[in-house]
Amino acid sequence: MSTSDDLHKKKMATKKAVKDARIAQATEERGVLILLKGNGKGKSSSAIGTMARALGHGKRCAVIQFIKGRNETGEYRFFRDQDNLDWFIMGQGFTWETQDKAQDIEAAQKAWALAEKLLSDDTYDLLVFDEMSYMFKYEYLDVEPVIAALKARPKMQSVIITGRTMATPIQDIADTISVVQDERHAFRQGVKAQAGIEF
Ligand code: ATP
Ligand code: MG
Repeated sequence: MSTSDDLHKKKMATKKAVKDARIAQATEERGVLILLKGNGKGKSSSAIGTMARALGHGKRCAVIQFIKGRNETGEYRFFRDQDNLDWFIMGQGFTWETQDKAQDIEAAQKAWALAEKLLSDDTYDLLVFDEMSYMFKYEYLDVEPVIAALKARPKMQSVIITGRTMATPIQDIADTISVVQDERHAFRQGVKAQAGIEF
């Protein structure tokens, strides 16, 4: 074996030892609260990707779309007939499209009433609250009852919340927070939103 192969082997063995020690330390089994935030593209699709994983393991999932962006997304068409999945489209549309605050608040409260119900149902393993963060940004929902329900949810239940900005109290109780950064987006180069890519 050459010296560089030997060095590589040693380096990898050290890395493996560090990794194994970390894995040995992570022994707790419970659901997690995951936040996917930031201005880049990939938050909702990542949440749905994780849901595909959960479904693949036979877990029961639900999606609540707090803002209805499009009538029928590809993911909704693809997943809606899954046995272990309930998919709820709650929002009326984007705020700047509806321009009707009272109607938006009513939709937000309806969506939250449903979310709260799912958060107390231990038959659900994974809940995706898509674009929920805007409810706090526009003050359509109070954050305190949401925090209380998230804290009181069944031990093994995981929740993913997406949205460009997140309310600080939700960040404070999250287990995993990923920021999807916007470095470049085809839209700004004049590329039209495409079925199968954007929705
Ligand atoms: P995706 O659904 O593709 O995972 P997302 O959930 O991260 O995207 P949102 O902020 O929910 O993004 O925006 C929804 C729509 O806006 C999607 O069609 C997405 O492709 C598009 N989009 C996301 N980020 C940007 C951006 N930085 N500039 C322009 N369009 C964007
Ligand atoms: Mg999204």
